[in-house]
Amino acid sequence: MIWRASPNFDARDADIDTLVLHYTGMPTGGAALDRLTDAAAEVSAHYLVEENGEVYQLVEEDSRAWHAGVSYWRGAANLNARSIGIEIVNPGHEFGYRSFTKAQMASVAVLAVDIVERHGILPRNVVGHSDIAPLRKNDPGELFDWKMLSAKGIGLWFADHLEINPAAVSYSLGMAAGGVTKLRDALTEIGYDGQGGELYDAGLAALITAFQRHWRPARVDAVADAETQAVIYAVRDSARRLTRSSAHLR
Ligand SMILES: [Zn+2]
Repeated sequence: MIWRASPNFDARDADIDTLVLHYTGMPTGGAALDRLTDAAAEVSAHYLVEENGEVYQLVEEDSRAWHAGVSYWRGAANLNARSIGIEIVNPGHEFGYRSFTKAQMASVAVLAVDIVERHGILPRNVVGHSDIAPLRKNDPGELFDWKMLSAKGIGLWFADHLEINPAAVSYSLGMAAGGVTKLRDALTEIGYDGQGGELYDAGLAALITAFQRHWRPARVDAVADAETQAVIYAVRDSARRLTRSSAHLR
């Protein structure tokens, strides 16, 4: 662990119960480190993981780093107060999105396991920036290996056997149906801000896109097809099971 202190933090006003993963979205890791430690930029994270696996710490965990911005998850807004943020170096969709390296993912896994265990963070409170700010953010994106992390207890995944309804209608932008409300309810139970009615509006399209980046990365197209719907209900069921077994925790 390499210390590279950022001036961009302040005091927390909530207990830590969430881990937020990001990509840096800048051409190089060096450029990202410069920005995250520049007082004028007013952004930061607790950690940054380089492509060669090196881990930098920028902010103490008991301080609030400025990485999430306007955000929402499971009834809570402004996630900076209650979360630890890890920036993972990748040029991102704007500068040439590419696979995260093996060394980098190994470091992310070790760091995340340590954080989650020390703070008792539940799997359903390990999220991507795009999950908590779906209208603004794409990171860490569809190349990020959430499934590998979930096998180590980091984040929620779902049973391999999916119940895909072959007769399910695909929902997409502009459609209105009772099934859309059902999808919203399931997304809300997972943690997204899914409120709204029967109309599949732009807000819901952003949620479906964020969901696909995280749990159905093979096709990210904002269409709630039969498989996407099945995965949504399966992730919701996983969240329910884990909530029941740890009801005393958020
Ligand atoms: Zn981010």
